[in-house]
Amino acid sequence: SLRPPSPLPSPSSSLSVTTFIFSLLQSYTTTTTTTATSSSPPSFIDSTPTSNLTIPYSTLPSLITNLSLSLRHLSLSNHHSALIISSNSSYVPVLYLSLFSIGVVVSPINPASSSAEISNVIRLCKPVVAFVTVDVVEKVKQTGFTNRIVVIESDEFVSMMSGVSNEEMSVGVSQLDTAAILYSSGGTTGKIKGVKLTHRNLISTIAGAMAGHQTRSSPAVYLSTVPYFHVYGFCLCLRTVALGDSLVSIGRFDMRLMLRSIVEFKVTHLPLAPPVVVALVDESNKDLVNGTNWRSVETVLCGGAPLTLAVINKFKRRFPNVSLVQAYGLTETTGGVARIAGPYESKVVGTVGRLISNCEAKIVDPNTGAALPPMSRGELWVRGPFVMKGYVDDKEVIDTMVDSDGWLRTGDLCYFDNEGFLFVVDRYPDELAGQVPMGFVVTRKGSTINETQVKDYVAKQVAPYKKLRRVCFIDSIPKNATGKILRKELIKM
Ligand code: AMP
Repeated sequence: SLRPPSPLPSPSSSLSVTTFIFSLLQSYTTTTTTTATSSSPPSFIDSTPTSNLTIPYSTLPSLITNLSLSLRHLSLSNHHSALIISSNSSYVPVLYLSLFSIGVVVSPINPASSSAEISNVIRLCKPVVAFVTVDVVEKVKQTGFTNRIVVIESDEFVSMMSGVSNEEMSVGVSQLDTAAILYSSGGTTGKIKGVKLTHRNLISTIAGAMAGHQTRSSPAVYLSTVPYFHVYGFCLCLRTVALGDSLVSIGRFDMRLMLRSIVEFKVTHLPLAPPVVVALVDESNKDLVNGTNWRSVETVLCGGAPLTLAVINKFKRRFPNVSLVQAYGLTETTGGVARIAGPYESKVVGTVGRLISNCEAKIVDPNTGAALPPMSRGELWVRGPFVMKGYVDDKEVIDTMVDSDGWLRTGDLCYFDNEGFLFVVDRYPDELAGQVPMGFVVTRKGSTINETQVKDYVAKQVAPYKKLRRVCFIDSIPKNATGKILRKELIKM
C-alpha cells in the first residue's frame, strides 16, 4: 500500500522542520522507538573508514535534545547561521536537526572547497560558528575566520550530545524563517549563490516526497553516496528520519566500500549521482560489481543531472531486478519536484517521473511566454510551497527567476508527455560523467590566451569537480533582454 500525502500544516503556525519530522515519526513508530536500544532500528549508521557509529531511533531524540541545549549554551540562537564543512557521516544530520530546532540557519558546503570558495561562502552566510571535520580546519583558518570552530567527531562535539537534562527548551521557530542556505550555481550565470530555504520549504518537500511511498513491514535501508551538503543528500537525510528508515553513510565516495556496505547492511535503496551509475555499468568494474550480492537492493535512485539512454539501457541489462528511478529538481526548489514513484513509472525510459504533490508546472515558450501543450518543448516553470525564499544578498536575481505569480523559471528545456511524465532535454551530455563543466570565453581584442591557460586559471581556485573540462572561445555571450544567459544557444554552438 502507498502512504497518503502528509497534510501540510498551516503556514502561520510556529513549527521547526525538526518538530515536524519527529511528529511524523511518532505517528507510526511509537512502538519501535520505545523498545530497548538493542532492538530499536538504526536511524543512522556510519560505514566510513574512521567510524562504525550506529544511532538507534530510541536514542536519536535525546541526542538531538542534548546537542540543541549545548548549542544554546554556545550562545547560538534564532537567525544565527552555522557553517558546516564535512563529508557524509551520521553526525551531520544529527547536527542539522539540532540546529533547526533552535532556529539556527544551517549552511553546509563541500569539504573539497578551496579556501577562496570557503571565504566566498563566509561572506554570504556570515556564520557565527563553523562545524568542520579535522582535515578542513586549516583551510577555514586561512580565510581569516575568527569565530568559534567546533571539530565534528572531537571529544568536545561528542560530549555535547551526552548527559541527561531537565532543562526546558522553548524556541519559537516560524515556518517562514530561513532554515538553510544551500549553494547553487543558479542555473544560468555560473556565479555561486546562497539559496535561502525556509522551514516551510523543507516541511513541504518532506510531506510531498512521502506521498506514494510504499509502507513496509521493516524499515528501508538507504546507503547515501550523495553529499549531505547538496540539496539531494540534504533532503534525503531528513526524509529517511521522517519515514523511520535507516541511512548508511560511507564518507567520501569509494566504490569498494559502497559495495561491501550494501551487503553488510542489506541496503534496499541506493541514491546515486549519475557518474556513479555510469561507473556501475562500466566494463572495467564488471567483475567487482558482479561479484557483489545485490539481492537486497530494490531501487537505485538517480538525480541532479541527466543520465544518457545508453547508460539507462546498460543498467537495465546488468541489474534486471533493480528499478532505476530518476528524480529532477533544483536547489531553488528544495530538491526533487518530479520523481518516479512506482513500478509502472520506472518502466517509462528516460523520464524523470511525474510531479510531486503540491507542485504545479507548465512548459513555456521562452520567446512568447505562452504555455505549451504536452509533447512540446519549452522552459519548465514550477510553482509550490517548495520554491525558495530567495538568494542571499541578491534581490535582482530572484526577481528574474520567480515572477509575481510565484512561478519559478527553471532554465531547463523540458517537455511533458500525454501521461504527465516529465523529460529533460537540456544540458551538455557527456557519456562518462553525465555532464561536465565547460567554459565559454570572450577574449579582449589582441588576447593570445589559450584553452590550457583558462583551465589552469580556473583549476587553481575551485574544488576539483568544478575544474573546466572543455573551453570554447566565442565572440559574445548570448543573452535575452533581461540579461539572462541563453544556455540553449550555447548548447547549439
Ligand atoms: P542544482 O541546483 O545545482 O542541483 O542544479 C539543478 C539543475 O540540475 C537543474 O536545473 C537541471 O538542469 C539539473 N538536473 C537536476 N536533476 C536532473 C535530472 N534528473 N535530469 C536532468 N537534469 C537534472
